[in-house]
Amino acid sequence: MKSQYRVVVIGGGVVGASVLYHLAKFGWSDVVMLERRRLASGSSWHAAGGIHALNADPNMASLQAYTIDLLSEIEKESGQNIGLHMTGGLTLAGTPERWEWLQANYRIFQSIGIDDCELLSPEEAQKRCPIMSTDGVLGAMWADREGYIDTTGTVQAYATAARKRGAEYYEETKVEELIQTADGWQVVTDRGTITCEHVVNAAGLWAKQVGRMAGIELPVSPLKHHYLITDTVPEVAEADFEMPMTVDLEGFTYMRQDQKGVLVGIYEVDHEHWAMDGAPWTYGEELFQEQLDRIETELTLGFERYPSIQNVGIKTWVNGAFTFSPDGNPLVGPVPGKPGYWSACAVMAGFLQGGGVGKTLAEWMIHGEPEADAWPMDVARYGDFAQNKRYIRETTGQFYSRRFVMTYPNEQLPAGRPLKMAPAHDAMTEAGCKWGVSWDLEVPLYFAPKDFEETPTLKRSNAFDIVAEECKVIREGAGLLDISGFSRFEVSGPNAQAWLDKVMASKLPAPGRAKLAPMLGENGRLKGDLTVLNWGDGKWWIMGSYYLRAWHMRWFDDHMIDGVDIRDLGEEYCGFAVVGPKSQGVVEKLAEQDISGLGFMGCGDFDIGLVRARVARMSVTGEKGYEINCRYGDHIKLRRMLLEAGADEGIRECGFNAMLSTRLEKSFGIWSAEFTQLYTPGMTGMDRWIDWDKDFVGKEAALAERDGNGPAQVQVTLEVDALDADASGYEPIWSGNDRVGFVTSGGYGHYTGKSLAMALVNRDKAEPGTELTVHVVGVERPARVIAPSPYDPQGKAMRG
Ligand SMILES: Cc1cc2nc3c(=O)[nH]c(=O)nc-3n(C[C@H](O)[C@H](O)[C@H](O)COP(=O)(O)OP(=O)(O)OC[C@H]3O[C@@H](n4cnc5c(N)ncnc54)[C@H](O)[C@@H]3O)c2cc1C
Repeated sequence: MKSQYRVVVIGGGVVGASVLYHLAKFGWSDVVMLERRRLASGSSWHAAGGIHALNADPNMASLQAYTIDLLSEIEKESGQNIGLHMTGGLTLAGTPERWEWLQANYRIFQSIGIDDCELLSPEEAQKRCPIMSTDGVLGAMWADREGYIDTTGTVQAYATAARKRGAEYYEETKVEELIQTADGWQVVTDRGTITCEHVVNAAGLWAKQVGRMAGIELPVSPLKHHYLITDTVPEVAEADFEMPMTVDLEGFTYMRQDQKGVLVGIYEVDHEHWAMDGAPWTYGEELFQEQLDRIETELTLGFERYPSIQNVGIKTWVNGAFTFSPDGNPLVGPVPGKPGYWSACAVMAGFLQGGGVGKTLAEWMIHGEPEADAWPMDVARYGDFAQNKRYIRETTGQFYSRRFVMTYPNEQLPAGRPLKMAPAHDAMTEAGCKWGVSWDLEVPLYFAPKDFEETPTLKRSNAFDIVAEECKVIREGAGLLDISGFSRFEVSGPNAQAWLDKVMASKLPAPGRAKLAPMLGENGRLKGDLTVLNWGDGKWWIMGSYYLRAWHMRWFDDHMIDGVDIRDLGEEYCGFAVVGPKSQGVVEKLAEQDISGLGFMGCGDFDIGLVRARVARMSVTGEKGYEINCRYGDHIKLRRMLLEAGADEGIRECGFNAMLSTRLEKSFGIWSAEFTQLYTPGMTGMDRWIDWDKDFVGKEAALAERDGNGPAQVQVTLEVDALDADASGYEPIWSGNDRVGFVTSGGYGHYTGKSLAMALVNRDKAEPGTELTVHVVGVERPARVIAPSPYDPQGKAMRG
C-alpha cells in the first residue's frame, strides 16, 4: 500500500468495488479501495442477489438497466464467475389500480429505451412461472433482463476487473480517521496514513460513521430485511427451465429460484430500524434471528402465491440489514461544503444499482459532471433538515414499509411532516388549505371545503372542480398564493454583478428590473431556470425552485469568486403573490408608495400596509401578478391585510395545483420536467434568453449547439384528446408506430378546457398541427402539436 493516492475509496462492498472499477475504467488508476475485513463483508455478502428492471422512478430504472447490462461485461473482464442467471422476470399486479399503473409504467419504460418488456395475462404469466398461483392476479409485466447473481462473486469481479486496470485494493485495512488538508484528505488507517485528493464514502452499513469522521451527517439508516430459502421444490426440480424472478407487489414478496428450491424475500410492512448511528465496528458477517411475528402476514401471502413451498422445508433464513435514504434512492456525489469528499452510500439495491452509481460517481469525479441526470440520487437533494434523526427514522421507515405499496401521484404521505411551516400555515389550514411538501416546507395545493378528502388516483381526482375554481379566480379576479415555496438567494459585494454575469447565460436586469436567467453547466446543459432580480441597492436576488436550495448553493459555491457574498434567504424570506386581472387594485390599496408604475418584470421595495416588502411584478400563472416577498415574521400580517384589502375584489386563496395548471396553459416550463440538467437551451427554448455577446459558463458548448445541426428533439405543447386522465410525465409519444418523443409534464388546463402536455419530440414532428398519439395511464390517446401558450399567446394579460 502506498502512502499517497489520487482517490481512496472506503469500503469494499459492491458499491465501493464498482466505484473503483469505473474510476480505473475511465482512466484514473492511481486509486485504492480499503476494506476493514474482507471484500463484501457488509450487507453485500448476504443480499439475495436479485436483479430486476422495474423502478417507479424512470431515472433509477435506467440506472438499473445500465447495471444489469454491465454484469456480464465485468464477468468477462475479470474472469470471475458471478453466477449470472438471466431468467427474465415478472411483476404481478393484484388490484385494478396496480394493473393500470403497470400498464402505464410499461409505456414509460419505452420512453426511456427499456424495450424488452411485455404485458401478460395471468395465464401467460403462470406459464412462465408455473409454481405461482394466479389467484387475484390481474396482469403482469415481463422483463427479459431480470434474474439473479452470486453476490460475493460479483463484488470480487468488480474488484478484480478494477485491479486488472491498475487500481488497488486492500483488505483488513480499517479507516479510523479523516483529516481535511489544504489540498485533500489524510486517511488514517490501522495500517498507516494515506494522503489523497478525494475520498469516497462507500462504507454501506457504516456510512454514517465514515460521514461523521468528516463532520458530515448523512441522512441514512440501516433497516432489517428477511428472506428464506426452501429445500428442493419438486416442481422446480422437474422443470426444464428456471423459474423467473417474480415480484408480487400486493403480496410484498419477491421470489427467485435457488438451486432446486426458491428464495422468497419479504418487504415487511412492520419495518425495523437497526443501528441508526451506523453498524457497530465489531459487526461482521452475522445475521439476526428471524422475526416471524413481524412477517406473518407477508409470509402467509407468499405461501399462498407459491403453494408448492408449503410442503417443503425452509433451508435457510436470512435477516440482515441494508441502508436507506429518506426517499430510498442512493446518496451520490460531492458533499456540499467538503471539497474532495464524495458520497456513494445508501444504495438500497447495490447489485441492481451499484454499476450505475459507480459510473455516475467516476464520471462526476473525472469530468466534473456525470453523463446522466444524477439529480434523483444526488446527495445535495437534501438540506440540513434531513440530518434530524426522527426525520430519518420516519422517512426511511415509510419508504421501506411502502416499498411494494403503490403511491399515487396525488397522494400525500405523512413521514417527516409537517416540518417547516410558513407562519400563516395554521390560518391557511383553517381556511381549508390542503398541503403538499417541497423539501422541508409545507406548500399549499388547494383550498377545499371542510372535511373534503382527496381520493388517491392515477386519473383526475375529486379535487378537479376545486382546482378549476381557483384557476378561474386567477384568470378573472384576484388569487392569493403563498409563495414561501420559492428559493431566494441574495448576492452582494463588489464583484456581485461580474459574478452573476458570468454564471447566468442571460443579460442581467437593470436596476429595478427582473429577468429570466438560464444557468448552464460547463457542458452547455441546463443548471437552472432562474430569475435574477436587481433591487438597485447593490443587492441582487436569484429566485428558483425551493427544493433545489442545497443543490444550487453547491453550484454557486463551486463557481464562487472573491468579492461576492451569497446568502440563502430561505429561512429569512417568504411571501405571497397576488395574481389575476384584479391584483393591481388589491395591492394598490395597501401600497404606501405609488405601485401603479411598476411594470411587467419590474421590482422594488414597497411598504405594503405595515410590511416592508420586496415586490416583483411577475407571475408564473401568466397573469398580471405581484410577488410580495416579506420577512418570515411578517407573513401572517401580510396575508391578513391582502385578504382584507381584496375582499371587495373577491380575492380567494389558491394553491400550487392551480398555479401548475395555469402555467401549463402558458407553456411555461418548470424544473425536473421541461428543464433538467440533461437538456440544452436549444431543446427547451431557453436559448432565446441567452446573451450570445457575453462570456458565460457553458458558452462554448452552447455555441456548438447553436451553430451545429441543432438538437434532435425540441420542446412542444400538445393538446391531448384525453377522457378522465391527463398525461403527467415520461409517457411515450408516437407518430404511427414510431416513437418520436415523450411527455415532460402534463395536466388539465382548466381555463382553456384542454388536456395539455409539454413534450420533447423529434424536430420533424414539432410543427403545430402535427397529429400524434400519446399514452395516458397506459391508454393510447390522439394528440396534436399546438402553438405554444394556448392561453393568451401574446402575453397581454401578464403585461397588462
Ligand atoms: C437480506 C438482504 C437482501 C438483499 N437483497 C438484494 C437483492 O436481491 N438485490 C440487490 O441489489 N440488493 C439486495 N440487498 C441490498 C444490498 O445488499 C445492498 O444494497 C448492498 O450490499 C450495498 O452495498 P454497499 O457496498 O453500499 O455496502 P456494504 O455491503 O455494507 O459494504 C460496505 C463495506 O465497507 C466496509 N467498511 C465500512 N467502514 C469501513 C472503514 N471505516 N474502513 C474500511 N472499510 C470499511 C465494510 O466492511 C463493508 O464491507 C439486500 C440486502 C439484504 C440485507
